[in-house]
Amino acid sequence: LQDKLNKAIKTLKGQGRITDINVAATVKEVRRALTDADVNYKVAKEITDRIKEKALDRKVLIAVEPGQLFVKIVQEELTDLMGGQAQSINTKGEPAIILIAGLQGSGKTTFSGKLANLLKRQGRNVLLVACDIYRPAAIDQLKVLGEQVGVEVYAEPENKNAVEIAQNAIEHAKKTNKRIVIVDTAGRLAIDEQMMQEIEDVKRALQPAETLFVVDSMTGQDAVNTAKTFNERLNFDGVVLTKLDGDSRGGAALSIKTVVNKPIKFISTGEKMEALDVFYPDRMASRILGMGDVISLVEKAQQAFDEDEAKRINAKMRQNQFDFNDFLSQLQQIKKMGNVKDLLGMIPGMGKMVKDLDIDNDSFKPIEAIIQSMTPKEREKPELIDANRKKRIALGSGTSLTQVNNLMKQFEDMRKMMKQMNRMQASGKLSKMMK
Ligand code: GDP
Ligand code: MG
Repeated sequence: LQDKLNKAIKTLKGQGRITDINVAATVKEVRRALTDADVNYKVAKEITDRIKEKALDRKVLIAVEPGQLFVKIVQEELTDLMGGQAQSINTKGEPAIILIAGLQGSGKTTFSGKLANLLKRQGRNVLLVACDIYRPAAIDQLKVLGEQVGVEVYAEPENKNAVEIAQNAIEHAKKTNKRIVIVDTAGRLAIDEQMMQEIEDVKRALQPAETLFVVDSMTGQDAVNTAKTFNERLNFDGVVLTKLDGDSRGGAALSIKTVVNKPIKFISTGEKMEALDVFYPDRMASRILGMGDVISLVEKAQQAFDEDEAKRINAKMRQNQFDFNDFLSQLQQIKKMGNVKDLLGMIPGMGKMVKDLDIDNDSFKPIEAIIQSMTPKEREKPELIDANRKKRIALGSGTSLTQVNNLMKQFEDMRKMMKQMNRMQASGKLSKMMK
């Protein structure tokens, strides 16, 4: 996913300007990258439509670094999608019960140890409970981890009733003054009715403060389906995404959050007991985009618009040198950017005037044709254009003499207005007006 998004965004980087055409192309690439990462098409389309809208809204087109601003917009959208803020777990109850569910091999037992470690370091009195009644090795595994992190492990190797073991564990926790009980359960290799029933029974009996669904981030679309099934049966409170070390990307985080609409609360990034992190949506979005501190650069770019272009045009306007070449280049830019009405206001110093002159999309074609039929000299010095030249230009551009006259008049009006503005600016009136 990262590679694909980078590729999509690379096409934008280093470009002084982007047009609606390459915004559309980039958005399409982003969409493909998302669908490739198991985000379903409809959701991916919704995301990218919003990204496109934001890109136009936030004036990406005239930002100093349109590519970076675009990256930032994608990043924000992904962050929102993954829940915005980091979510904590509920530790209410005496003791607070945390139930761990998921497929076999997803990393439940490892995570149980890690969570116990984390909570213990926060000064909580924790009990781990081994409720995997099918694999004796699983009990030993939890005991080893418990020893490593210095947390007691409750187990009943002979008992084959998970609900009973769990209930006995709670009694034990109360007696030994434990504040938090983490219940590690059995998993199967695939969704299986017996397993589902068992975990459902345990949940009903314990009424845990928090039920966490553990899922291997490397399992792609399967992770999403598993999450969906578990959520339908357990209505869990949060997701733990494991094995995010290695070459796993963030795609699973996106799709799971989208499909089950439950927050991802932790990510697991290794086999060591310390390899546990609270899930931060913005960091995951950055991971997906592979950005690091590009974001702060982008933030700066967001403030500043295309100063060079603004300066160039302003200088010409100030010196009363604004000519048909400038006019044409502005028109072409507007046209490339798409919706004129939305974009007029973005052109430094010009937007309002063009609007006043009542130019809309349809006005562009004949105007361009007329200007293009002028010689370079004529464009620079419109006063050269006499009646004969007007006739020639009208013929050459396939317009009428009236249209040429109208444009000439509009252009002259525009220049007069600029001159007027310059005079006002010189006398300080304009700056007062702008405040
Ligand atoms: P369970 O069957 O759900 O209890 O899964 P386990 O906790 O036994 O984990 C299955 C395997 O995945 C073990 O070999 C773990 O060491 C490994 N594992 C668990 N979490 C992670 C992780 O975040 N990263 C890596 N690389 N391996 C992990
Ligand atoms: Mg286990």
